[in-house]
Amino acid sequence: MTINVRAYAAHSATSDLQPFRFERRAPRADDVVIEILYCGVCHSDLHNVRNDWGGASYPMVPGHEIIGRVVSVGAGVTRFAPGDEVGVGCMVDSCQHCKACEHDHEQYCEHGSTYTYNAVDRRDGQPTYGGYSEKIVVSDKFVLKIPAGLPLAGAAPLLCAGITTWSPLRHWKVGPHSKVAVIGLGGLGHMALKLAAAMGAEVTLLTRSPGKEADAKRLGAHHVVYSTDAAQMAQVAGQFDLIIDTVPYVHDLNPYMPALATDGTLVLLGFLGELAPSLNTAPLVMGRKTVAGSLIGGIAETQEMLDFCGAHGITSDIEVIQIQDINAAYERLLKSDVKYRFVIDMASLQN
Ligand code: NAP
Ligand code: ZN
Repeated sequence: MTINVRAYAAHSATSDLQPFRFERRAPRADDVVIEILYCGVCHSDLHNVRNDWGGASYPMVPGHEIIGRVVSVGAGVTRFAPGDEVGVGCMVDSCQHCKACEHDHEQYCEHGSTYTYNAVDRRDGQPTYGGYSEKIVVSDKFVLKIPAGLPLAGAAPLLCAGITTWSPLRHWKVGPHSKVAVIGLGGLGHMALKLAAAMGAEVTLLTRSPGKEADAKRLGAHHVVYSTDAAQMAQVAGQFDLIIDTVPYVHDLNPYMPALATDGTLVLLGFLGELAPSLNTAPLVMGRKTVAGSLIGGIAETQEMLDFCGAHGITSDIEVIQIQDINAAYERLLKSDVKYRFVIDMASLQN
């Protein structure tokens, strides 16, 4: 039997999110039925709702930072039982047999991973709907275990902001001898500071916003540099092994290139599109520097990140909101007015 759920949905790129009801699929043998307790609000939700990246399909129920409790499991599920605290991130399926999937990089599935919302289920062809809803039905391979003791609301953003910053930190082998910089102190940025510091790196925040110094240091930054101040940027020339760039909109990368050490990498997480102004390649060639990109992380890697956060007591700094406040929260997100992640208390759907 399908499961009727309450939710909030966008019906166009320009309209507010509104209450919405729809049917979740009848659970399959490998499915886990999850009652959603909390859902984080990612800047990607806003990009998707407003169709910044094209390909938006409405009605759209956003949300891919999902924490919930298992209600029931299909006959073939052995890893989960009713009552378990679990998470669901940005993906709910992938082909499971291409090279990327075989290497636990489901996010780079050669046939396209199935996103948690604004996508089409690869088995039944129905639209996927995200976490701004009462319940979700997800194949067990894409369900994560939440370590005991982690506060659930603060754990929600780990499912996207956490893994998206964890994956490049691990890929570029950050550790106690690394110097890492993070551009932008928002949802992703604050997780990058916490995770890089917990890995033992020396961490610098590069921000355009005055007034974030005390917070940045509390979150794990050892230094704060104002990226619009050329003199301050000159002082960090040649310093960083890895720069994690979380800026959501087109921006000038050229001022950051001199701050990379020889062999250093700037990894783009936030902006998908053509750079403007264009990138001067001379500093790259002269210092064997790399500009790279990275997309969320695989499922095994997400569990690794959650277990690390459990062991180190790391969660996101959050502002809990009611679902009825979601449109106001989007406006605040656009102004970078959030410390540092909105999380929806999904019980408010019953109000
Ligand atoms: P956020 O909370 O809005 O934070 C973005 C931060 O970037 C802001 O706090 C601000 O920091 C800085 N910023 C914003 N606008 C800027 C501009 N025009 N120029 C320079 N800096 C600017 O967003 P988020 O949720 O962290 O997401 C960041 C981006 O990552 C979004 O585009 C999101 O879609 C994307 N994302 C990517 C992945 C992936 O897999 N690659 C996963 C999740 C999200 P300061 O005020 O400190 O400068
Ligand atoms: Zn996200």
